[in-house]
Amino acid sequence: MPKKVSLNVKCPFCNKTLMDEGHLINNKRSIRILIETAEHKKGTIWLSSIYGDYNYTCDLKIPEDDVAIMSCPQCKKELNRSKVTCDVCAAPIVSFTCSVGGRVSICSRAGCKNHYVVFENLDTAVRKFYDEYGYN
Ligand SMILES: [Zn+2]
Ligand SMILES: [Zn+2]
Repeated sequence: MPKKVSLNVKCPFCNKTLMDEGHLINNKRSIRILIETAEHKKGTIWLSSIYGDYNYTCDLKIPEDDVAIMSCPQCKKELNRSKVTCDVCAAPIVSFTCSVGGRVSICSRAGCKNHYVVFENLDTAVRKFYDEYGYN
């Protein structure tokens, strides 16, 4: 398992990048998404783009256990998938398209252990990542 792989993700609907060069987390560009809490407060969340990293910053205070609706800052479409739920807490899963293929999925519930970036098919994605970036 490689360390510090920084993912490059896109919106699955409009195919525009979700990466924010202007907002770094752990010295890597972050993933910027719009968020709406269960109390209908709207804000922006920046997730770490590093695989397996839980860090994020948000301009809202997200209550623990809150299930948020996340949407694309470009096309405003909801990224929560109603038919795919978290193995841990059953909240909807939020997915992005990964530049190296496959999907990056996170849980929409704040504080859930599944709340980080994961590949659905890590082996393939990591291999493509090596091909694309020559990373070692
Ligand atoms: Zn979009
Ligand atoms: Zn969960």
